[in-house]
Amino acid sequence: MVQLAEQFDLVIIGGGPGGYGAAFYAASAGLNVAIVEKDKLGGTCLNRGCIPAKSFLETAAVYRHVAHAGDFGIEASAPTVNFAVAQARKQRIVDGLIKGIGGLMKARKVTLYMGVGSLGPDRTVTVQLDEGGTVQAQGAAVILAAGSVPRTIQNFDRGGPIMTSDEVLMLDYVPPRVAVIGGGAIGCEFASTFADLGAQVTILEGLPKILPGLDGDVANVVVRSFKRKNIDIRTAVKVTGHSPHEPGGGTTVHFGAEGSQAENLDVDVVIVSVGRRPYADELGLQNSGVTVSDRGFVQVDEFCRTTEAGVYAIGDLIDTPQLAHVGYAEAILVVKQLLGENPMPVMYDKVPWAIYCHPEVAFAGPDEEAAKALGYDVVVAKHQYRGNSRAQIIGEIDGLVKVIAKKNADGSAGQVLGVHMVGPWVTEQLSGGYLAVNWEATVAEVAEFIQPHPSLTELFGETMLSLTGRSLNT
Ligand SMILES: Cc1cc2nc3c(=O)[nH]c(=O)nc-3n(C[C@H](O)[C@H](O)[C@H](O)COP(=O)(O)OP(=O)(O)OC[C@H]3O[C@@H](n4cnc5c(N)ncnc54)[C@H](O)[C@@H]3O)c2cc1C
Repeated sequence: MVQLAEQFDLVIIGGGPGGYGAAFYAASAGLNVAIVEKDKLGGTCLNRGCIPAKSFLETAAVYRHVAHAGDFGIEASAPTVNFAVAQARKQRIVDGLIKGIGGLMKARKVTLYMGVGSLGPDRTVTVQLDEGGTVQAQGAAVILAAGSVPRTIQNFDRGGPIMTSDEVLMLDYVPPRVAVIGGGAIGCEFASTFADLGAQVTILEGLPKILPGLDGDVANVVVRSFKRKNIDIRTAVKVTGHSPHEPGGGTTVHFGAEGSQAENLDVDVVIVSVGRRPYADELGLQNSGVTVSDRGFVQVDEFCRTTEAGVYAIGDLIDTPQLAHVGYAEAILVVKQLLGENPMPVMYDKVPWAIYCHPEVAFAGPDEEAAKALGYDVVVAKHQYRGNSRAQIIGEIDGLVKVIAKKNADGSAGQVLGVHMVGPWVTEQLSGGYLAVNWEATVAEVAEFIQPHPSLTELFGETMLSLTGRSLNT
């Protein structure tokens, strides 16, 4: 007997931020939604990404606070690390949030299938259920949100001391010596965490600088701070392989710069942090009308429509910034289309970026170099946190706010193009800058707004004010 497929307005494959974001937003608008997840709700972000990594970074922050407690008049003994507690704390946070997503699914009457989903003809998804058996769900529309997995590199197969973010985030100890291969955002967050917790950290980066996408002034602040943490930053080097020691005993990483002698580095753990690849492996797309690029990304247009009618793809599965909040934005974009609305495509060049290493980095819009490369004549202002009263109070004076604005015909600063920040809690301070960039506000308009005193955000306000040609403190 042929089993009839369950009917839904929307069927989603993947329960990460893209997938659950789409499910909640669609259900809140009254659509009848099913979602398929093969592992745990929350996806990479919640289980193996954003949330656990930030939980570890917070442990590192607490360590720094206790180590510097004496500066604030608090006598405390030198901190020691019990990372098993940090791991357990992280897992409690993760488990609680997974439960929260599950609860919201029930509350919004989203049908959850636990199993592997693959796309068949006529927007019908077949689910190999974890509990055994299969079920079919047909959607008026289908969203593919299967996310991504860590990339690996030749000669560094996962196992033993060779870890990707997946394994590192399950550690219950701080490895004494760590090599981080790849100096991007995720690599730098791990380097910062473990260096603050007392590990000897070396970053091995193939490009001439770490955090290559950042504004030069911002990246310099991070590099200086990393050097003070004794992080050894080796750029323009290529890793060629490693020689494991006895089981459980670490490994020796072989690397070198072009044209110079090969070098060896003894470490306990190697964190391979060289990006993530889209995970379309189990979606069954080979028999569908959905096109996958050579690099493995599902191809979509600016409205996240794939090459098969009624099938959309969002999040890390498509070639857009691999950020949880970009996945949410794409989820909303798709659902609005299903509701017959006419949403604007996501403006990928203006999304907010946040890196939670110490010091933190946050930005929206082009940096100075990129703005000039786009052909803009620019006016730039930058101001340091060391002159900000709140930064001095909290004892975090490293960093700056940099604003890049279009130059008006009379030479004055006009529309805000980019806001780039590095320093204390900047990931929490970007929203004003993000709004200014995306609202296409002018410097004069933003400078009208009052910032509370004393606050870190005053530096953003003062930087805008200084661009009007007048200023208070800067
Ligand atoms: C260490 C680390 C730190 C990060 N920090 C940040 C950060 O601070 N901020 C930020 O914005 N982003 C961060 N990211 C990136 C962020 O995690 C991803 O951009 C985000 O998770 C992508 O969401 P997604 O829904 O597209 O995919 P995913 O989160 O990868 O979820 C996809 C889900 O689909 C499921 N799935 C796959 N195939 C199938 C199938 N065939 N059937 C059923 N289920 C399937 C998977 O099991 C998974 O649960 C970080 C990533 C890492 C690794």
